[in-house]
Amino acid sequence: MWSVWEYLGAAMPTLRTLEDLEREGLIVPDPRLEEAAQSLAIALTPDIVALIDRADLANDPIARQFVPSPRETEIAPEELADPIGDEARSPVKGIVHRYPDRALLKPIHVCPVYCRFCFRREQVGPGGEALSPTELDAALAYIREHGEIWEVILTGGDPLMLGSRRLRALIDALDAIPHVAIVRIHSRVPIADPGRVTAELIAALKPQRTQLWLAVHCNHPRELSAASKDALRRLSDGGLPLLSQTVLLAGINDDVDTLASLMRALVAARVKPYYLHHPDLVRGTGHFRVSIERGQALMKALRGRLSGLAQPTYVLDVPGGHGKVPIGPSYVGDDPDALLIEDAFGKQHGYPG
Ligand SMILES: *Cc1c(COP(=O)(O)O)cnc(C)c1O
Ligand code: SF4
Repeated sequence: MWSVWEYLGAAMPTLRTLEDLEREGLIVPDPRLEEAAQSLAIALTPDIVALIDRADLANDPIARQFVPSPRETEIAPEELADPIGDEARSPVKGIVHRYPDRALLKPIHVCPVYCRFCFRREQVGPGGEALSPTELDAALAYIREHGEIWEVILTGGDPLMLGSRRLRALIDALDAIPHVAIVRIHSRVPIADPGRVTAELIAALKPQRTQLWLAVHCNHPRELSAASKDALRRLSDGGLPLLSQTVLLAGINDDVDTLASLMRALVAARVKPYYLHHPDLVRGTGHFRVSIERGQALMKALRGRLSGLAQPTYVLDVPGGHGKVPIGPSYVGDDPDALLIEDAFGKQHGYPG
């Protein structure tokens, strides 16, 4: 189907309302969608809309990630408003400090797109916008006062939604804190809005002293469009080491072929697969959830089939604020007196304990 914007020969704006989605033929009206849109804002950039296969909307792995579903109104009793317990670990607004050596700093609450499975769905969206200058100063003061913080992880929201000037000022402020060695940015911008990765933005990502790392959120090989691969190449050429994080999602990437081609495509784009996240217990996201058993079987299938470069670590953020742990399959038997090691092809081998 032709989009009305193509017909008008105009650039499509980011789709932000149910009316926009209906006009584009991406949803059929349903009162439950109003409720879904109230609990998490809607945003689909033109780059993302262009990736949607309209012939099979219900099963399309791109549409499923960004187009609201009536199923978001189904809340299971085990689902939590604060699924990873960030609240209890937030000493000042915008900071989450769970591990001694690293702290999250969330300067902004907006994202280029809103992912329907978002684990921060209670916090992200237009409205809250950025930390005020006073709040940002207080967050930076906290980092300055905590000499054990070696790494600052900028997240949000999406830190690359800050203008280049504000981003540069923030990175310079972190650069001036002697105990901070690493600044890591988590972003969906290179995938969802690659046009934002301008020379000006890349120039803002050049601290004098600290080393910057960029972790890109990407869940399906089709998200790596020509434009997004080009944005990743510019970032990498600009001197940034690139990592990826993927959320394991039912009906989107919970099969071995999709995961294998995603991880390979990331490595080919100079991005080292870092984490495969088990989906969090976020309210209204049961339709995305996969069992840990299934996740482990998928990880086993990747081992032996894919280069070590393309293997992510499968992690769970333990509900209640207990942090992330690897939950991948084990290859070591549990009898310490007769240790058995399983190889990548399923055969057992004895190993002197
Ligand atoms: C995920 C997370 C981190 C980063 O963890 P890594 O394992 O270093 O990637 C740090 N702090 C908090 C609060 C987190 O949720
Ligand atoms: S980009 Fe990240 S923070 Fe923003 S909606 Fe998606 S998952 Fe949530």
